[in-house]
Amino acid sequence: MSKFETKAIKSVLDQVEHADPVSMPIYLSSTYHRNPDGTYDGGFAYGRADNPNRKVLENSIAMLEGGEVGVAFGSGMAAISAVFQSLKPGQEVLIPDDVYFAVRVLFDEILERWGLKGISVDMSDLNEVKNHLSDKTGMIYLESPSNPQLKISDIQAIAGLCEDIGILCAVDNTWPTPVLQRPLELGADVVVHSTSKYFGGHSDVIGGAAVIKTQGEPSEKIKNIQQLSGGVPSPFDSWLICRGIQTLSLRVKAASDSAMKIATELASHPKIERVLYPGLVSHPGHEVAKKQMSDGFGGMLSILVKADFDETVKIGHDLKLFTSASSLGGVESLVEHRKSIEGASSPTLDNLLRLSVGLEHPDDLLEDLFAALKS
Ligand SMILES: *Cc1c(COP(=O)(O)O)cnc(C)c1O
Repeated sequence: MSKFETKAIKSVLDQVEHADPVSMPIYLSSTYHRNPDGTYDGGFAYGRADNPNRKVLENSIAMLEGGEVGVAFGSGMAAISAVFQSLKPGQEVLIPDDVYFAVRVLFDEILERWGLKGISVDMSDLNEVKNHLSDKTGMIYLESPSNPQLKISDIQAIAGLCEDIGILCAVDNTWPTPVLQRPLELGADVVVHSTSKYFGGHSDVIGGAAVIKTQGEPSEKIKNIQQLSGGVPSPFDSWLICRGIQTLSLRVKAASDSAMKIATELASHPKIERVLYPGLVSHPGHEVAKKQMSDGFGGMLSILVKADFDETVKIGHDLKLFTSASSLGGVESLVEHRKSIEGASSPTLDNLLRLSVGLEHPDDLLEDLFAALKS
């Protein structure tokens, strides 16, 4: 090892050592040393197949949700797509009539061409769910609370229905997070997350995950799709989400407490038609939400303003502490006029503003809301 070029490479590698750190290091290496017999001492071979930071993330989320297998993705939509792709062509998925908008578009623009149909159902009505089941139904997919209307579906009842007929029950648990709701304990088979939201918690990373209750055919299929399709999170993204996990509980409970306070105060405001928040006794899903959520009802709420489309948009932009932006679950409060984002085909009401309550003081957030509603 005498030439400059060789020294430049080897001198770095020779100094790699274990420093016994307290916080998790980032493993950027895309490939790993292979032994003569083809084995790997660290258990890692290549970055698409696996990575130490991703593995920590997957195991942590699985543990927090109470599932056996965690599979991390580069976005929430990649995780959700992989779960749907694990089904067979010709099958149908019951999806909520109020659902994260891209899920509906995913069925319309991509999955239907591959033989998978999404059927919109009012999941807050158990009879409606039963009425839409057929011998083609392969999965019921839930969101509770739903986006952006915060409708509540009875996870235990619907998971029971799925078990009776031998199909999968998947729940998007992005909004409540396992801090407030654990669908696998209520009987669901799969949980999906956009870790871009509360798990990351600081609006600086895009990621997703699926957690499967038990090791088996569905978990193997989803893992296979992750490793072969390759929609994986980077080591740094995995690291950021792991860091978020360490403060998840404190952040979610604080946001949830503030959201409850804001929802309660706004419910009697003269400029507000209705507050959509499952923590309010007046919410039609309150009793079910109380049964299946603990420690709060989440940091998300929607308000229906006594105003038309344009006035509602203006109120959203008049807010000073709530930034007008997509996404949710960060330390900063956000507001969004969902109808403008989703377009004319969306069932979302013109006068709906969706609030993601952050970690600012709730009194300041309320003052901001009162001022914008007055103007
Ligand atoms: C944001 C979100 C998604 C999509 O996640 P991405 O990380 O943006 O792909 C899915 N479901 C819910 C409930 C979300 O809030």
